[in-house]
Amino acid sequence: MNRILYITSALVFIMSLATCSISHTPAPMTESPPPSGVQQILLEDYRPISVYKTPTTEIMSAKYPVIDMHSHTYALAEGGIEQALKNMDAVGIKKTIILTKATGAVFDSIYNAYAPYADRFEIWCGFDYTGYDKPGFGPAAVAELERCYAVGARGVGELSDKGSGLVRSKTPVPRIHLDDPRLDGLLQKCAELDMPINIHVAEPIWMYLPMDATNDGLMNAFSWRLDNKPDIVGHQGMIDILENTVKRHPETTFIACHYANLSYDLSQLAELLSSYPNLYVDNGARYAEVGPIPRAAANFYKEYQDRIFYGTDMGHDVDMYRMTIRQLETEDEHFYGHDQYGYHWALNGMGLPDEVLKKIYYENAERLFGKKD
Ligand SMILES: [Zn+2]
Repeated sequence: MNRILYITSALVFIMSLATCSISHTPAPMTESPPPSGVQQILLEDYRPISVYKTPTTEIMSAKYPVIDMHSHTYALAEGGIEQALKNMDAVGIKKTIILTKATGAVFDSIYNAYAPYADRFEIWCGFDYTGYDKPGFGPAAVAELERCYAVGARGVGELSDKGSGLVRSKTPVPRIHLDDPRLDGLLQKCAELDMPINIHVAEPIWMYLPMDATNDGLMNAFSWRLDNKPDIVGHQGMIDILENTVKRHPETTFIACHYANLSYDLSQLAELLSSYPNLYVDNGARYAEVGPIPRAAANFYKEYQDRIFYGTDMGHDVDMYRMTIRQLETEDEHFYGHDQYGYHWALNGMGLPDEVLKKIYYENAERLFGKKD
């Protein structure tokens, strides 16, 4: 992350406020200089430690068995599957969905790698868009989807469109979005096979906002910025595409991952969920994004408890799992997750009730899988 963001002015402002609140008099013009180096602290290096003596919960394991609906092939790249399983066991993850995005021989090799642990992992495939720009596209892609299903794929994902099309796949399809009629056959076949589709649309709103001192999520937003990509479909445009897609394919189940990147406006997400019963969300990799709004988030979870899946999307590290569990289960306040997340703000637990936890941890997933039987 190459961020060079000075917080000098913010710190000076905060220090001047502190001075005022203590003395109740304006700070003198000839103040002694701040401690050496303070004015050179970079925002990206800012790692405050909470001073609050409020209740803190030490989490070891989730309260109920968990199905992690959003993970990838991290174990193959690093650590191995056995180690991933040990970590899952340590925190109570009974099953993990591996979103491979892959088709063909790559999908098969991933599937085979996890096959000895079939009771602990479920492997989803991607779409093969080969020839998408030529007449006659469709039947071969559908045939490959059916082949992956025959191998063992039970869902599709993670498809990804941050505004420039479904480009994050082996066969990128620029400027083709999920509501494109050319994809109708694939999405229809998913309905027939009861294969849910995990779809990533857009990015969190801060990535679209000016990268300046007003950007509420500046630290993380700068790493994933989209404000400098004028040719892409914007945030609302991508939400519209998601809506068009779920409306166009009412028989197909869609899981908009990362809360459809609407964590900043859960009321808009609530409207979508209320309107389209074939739409679900996962919360993968968006724990920090709801960390500042625990009451609004908890209300959303209570209201839509049947439509939310637990997901991680952040490897298999034990501390990562425990942080997600702490945020969902406890009412701990103002704690930091610097090692997990890119934002600079403190987190707060949602304290979700047991019946909601059970649903998002495993009951909703089992209901979805049960549909296939
Ligand atoms: Zn993902």
